[in-house]
Amino acid sequence: MIYLDNAATTKPSESSSNEMARVMTSNWANPSSVHALGYRAEKEVEHCKTKFAECIKCSSDRIVFTSCATESINTVLKGFWKVYPRSGRHMITSVTEHKATLETCHYLEKNGIEVTYLPVDGNGNISIVELVKALRKDTSIFSFTHVNSETGTVLNIDELFAFRDKQCPEVKIHLDCVQSFGKLPVDIVKSGVDYFSVSSHKIHGPKGIGLIYFGANSKIFPLIHGGGQQKALRSGTVDVSAISGFCAATVEAFSKIDQSLTLATSLKQSLLTELEKRNIKFVCNSPSDASPFIVNLSFPGAKSEVLIRVLGESEIYVSASSACSTKKKKLSYVLSAMNIRDEYVQSAIRISFCRNNTLEEIATFCEKISDALKILHV
Ligand code: PLP
Repeated sequence: MIYLDNAATTKPSESSSNEMARVMTSNWANPSSVHALGYRAEKEVEHCKTKFAECIKCSSDRIVFTSCATESINTVLKGFWKVYPRSGRHMITSVTEHKATLETCHYLEKNGIEVTYLPVDGNGNISIVELVKALRKDTSIFSFTHVNSETGTVLNIDELFAFRDKQCPEVKIHLDCVQSFGKLPVDIVKSGVDYFSVSSHKIHGPKGIGLIYFGANSKIFPLIHGGGQQKALRSGTVDVSAISGFCAATVEAFSKIDQSLTLATSLKQSLLTELEKRNIKFVCNSPSDASPFIVNLSFPGAKSEVLIRVLGESEIYVSASSACSTKKKKLSYVLSAMNIRDEYVQSAIRISFCRNNTLEEIATFCEKISDALKILHV
């Protein structure tokens, strides 16, 4: 099996799975219980928070655990207007955000918030010129994705923070760091971010757990009310084993961040070189300075879903750019927003790497895609 769909999810690492099993079997009490077992579970969570804080380079009270990045994004963007009731009712995001942001924004628009969706250029980048045009006196928050999950386009955060700090220091910034956390060696807290959202299952941790970072001058309003856990910012008994698995995955990802990035860079390079060597007709939709973990390629003349099926027969797993909602196939709104021709959008596949992939796997992938294209007479 060759798994090249790591932007969708990753295989839980051994250290992450072992940590989860250890906590599930030997530290399974409710951390809110006042007896000794509860105290031990609470200590486990506190220990994990310290580890997260070391990786993120923040204080441990700046972290709230959630069930996933979708919940993190919903919490930040829906709660913002409640926790800052006197702030202007306008926000800015972009057309290529993940659905977790876009659908939350659509909800907000039905509830009195005005949202401007910035366009992107052919590389998937937003521009400061467009941001200046969109900025209003009542703009209160920007929400952008650090690394786009379909193309790997990297947001120029230095430029964004410099702009905010100079032109509108009162505007808060939320970043969706799902595809960059533990992958790109960036000190996101130092950059001046107010909030960011991440997810465990994208970095070899378990599913069902994510977190929100919120800066010292930023507040969170809870999406979920109840027993007051996590200082009432996110009620519900915390999943200690999931937190431990997520923590182990994070520590491992951060300790291997440079070597994983180097590997992904050589995998991407080898993929493009090998496809060219084989005279395969393809278009790379990811910009050259994209995160090397995500490569979006079109094979004109082939349909992405057919390619995925044929590759799947050889146990090679990639995904389509085009999201399929229910039974209706829709073209990728991300690629379309980049003004990529429909023919290319229809034939796009996303290949996404992790630190477990090898150059041999890429060679096999290229051989199999070459065979697939021959079968399809492309
Ligand atoms: N944001 C981005 C960029 C993603 O890639 C994903 C997952 O695909 C999400 C948000 C949602 O993450 P989760 O699955 O943890 O809700």
